[in-house]
Amino acid sequence: MQTDSYRHKGMRRALIKVLRDKGIRDERVLAAIDAVPRHYFFEKAFLEQAYQDKAFPIGEGQTISQPYTVAFQTELLQVKSTDKVLEIGTGSGYQCSVLLQLTPHVYTIEYNRALYEKALVFFKKNGLRPYTFHGDGSQGLPQHAPYDKIIVTAGAPGVPRSLVQQLNIGGVLVIPVGNEKSQKMMRITRVEENEFTKEAFSDFKFVPLLGKSGWDAEL
Ligand code: SAH
Repeated sequence: MQTDSYRHKGMRRALIKVLRDKGIRDERVLAAIDAVPRHYFFEKAFLEQAYQDKAFPIGEGQTISQPYTVAFQTELLQVKSTDKVLEIGTGSGYQCSVLLQLTPHVYTIEYNRALYEKALVFFKKNGLRPYTFHGDGSQGLPQHAPYDKIIVTAGAPGVPRSLVQQLNIGGVLVIPVGNEKSQKMMRITRVEENEFTKEAFSDFKFVPLLGKSGWDAEL
């Protein structure tokens, strides 16, 4: 059984300060991060790492996103409590757990079977209830579309058309786009049925988005 002690809470408060200093302003996002014990995603030996503002390996060549990245993407999404959100790349389940603090309607899809199974166990153990899916999410999750918000947590070679098609009017897609070394954070808003606005933010480094509209496109 994992515990969330005063020490852990103190470490988390220090992390929140770091995120604030780096420019995260949305109090709801900071509170959501403060509410998720990030050390639950780590082996006991790595407690110190859990509250550093760094990405960390979670096995299968994948990583739990850096807290700043999670905060930045979540802030761009502007999640409301009635929003239906799709996350592509469940990974450890950390970003999903943060989203669940903001809305109960979170759909998350993971390509890697082992990580998917592991995340299921984590959600169950912690009483979290996202809608979980195993498979290629590079073209979204059409059977449950449309969504108010879509967040991609792996680096994509471009903006998959199928993803923007699964947005509601007024819906927002946040996706890192670039090459394998660096990706620009993009926010696409569906203003009208066939009208989209595109905003570019700073550069990040994610693990690659695989699948049909990811880096496997040509295979
Ligand atoms: N959101 C995660 C970040 C995990 S890293 C977290 O908070 O821990 C990115 C994840 O995207 C990896 O687990 C990887 O397996 C997954 N992924 C890559 N391509 C995918 C695809 N096409 N569909 C679904 N998941 C994908």
